[in-house]
Amino acid sequence: MGASLRIDLHTHSTASDGLLAPSRLVAAAREQYVGTLALTDHDTTDGIPEALAAGRACGVDVIPGVEINTDVDDHEVHILGYFVDHTRGGLQAFLQQMRDGRVRRAEEMVRKLAALGVRVDWARVSEMASGGAVGRPHIARALVAAGVVGTSQEAFERFLGRAGPAYVARVKLSPEEAVEVIAENGGVPVLAHPGWAASGPVLERVPQLVAHGLEGIEVYYPDHTAEMVETFHAVAARHGLVMTGGTDYHGGGIANRAPLGSVSMPADVVPTLRARWMAPRAQRSGGARS
Ligand code: AMP
Ligand code: ZN
Ligand code: FE
Ligand code: FE
Repeated sequence: MGASLRIDLHTHSTASDGLLAPSRLVAAAREQYVGTLALTDHDTTDGIPEALAAGRACGVDVIPGVEINTDVDDHEVHILGYFVDHTRGGLQAFLQQMRDGRVRRAEEMVRKLAALGVRVDWARVSEMASGGAVGRPHIARALVAAGVVGTSQEAFERFLGRAGPAYVARVKLSPEEAVEVIAENGGVPVLAHPGWAASGPVLERVPQLVAHGLEGIEVYYPDHTAEMVETFHAVAARHGLVMTGGTDYHGGGIANRAPLGSVSMPADVVPTLRARWMAPRAQRSGGARS
């Protein structure tokens, strides 16, 4: 029975820019026959206790995670962290700093929109974020609610995308720093969606990321073509990286629209990831950190 259950290792909840509360997300996972679900909110682990409790109650294996978005020149490189120890003060201080930066950045984007003649209340954006880590999707939803655009996608295309007139860069952080923070806090750092066009030539950076402690690569992802999967598979094999996969589910309608649990991957992805987490640091591949 277990072998036929689905796996989804990349999802967002209302703790960041997802639409479902952590317990609702876990319930949705159960309905979709997802047996293992990782919660990977942007710059926060605040949804994890609720997701873990919901998972225990309904029999979904919940893996605690996080996603840290970083910038490299004109590109975006996102790092997932599985099994990070969310009880550590050092990790929480770091994530709080990132979230504070997100608030300043979103406020600046709202000011830029105002300068463009687009009025969107900060209160509305704040309400969309409901106390969670604020992101561009919240501004996009506020723009939809205000009738400025028809869809979140249109908000990104016209205003909020990297080349858009209201775009503001995030807190300066390199992907190597994100990898180190995750590793230092007991997590397994994994390069997210390397096939994203916005990530640029990120594969060239893999050796450097591995030197800083990268341990995995998200091979299976909705936008990844069969050819990409093959390439990422080879990169993972060459560097001894764990292969992961997920939908990047946000509750529908945002970013990609793949349903929860809809990306298939080999069943051994989960035990392999767990074994990597449990392996002593020195035995982990890419363990030579500077
Ligand atoms: P932020 O963390 O504030 O930079 O927002 C990044 C999030 O915005 C991503 O995780 C996606 O959920 C979403 N996103 C990024 N680019 C787009 C896009 N072109 N269209 C729709 N959503 C996007
Ligand atoms: Zn997101
Ligand atoms: Fe991402
Ligand atoms: Fe994501």
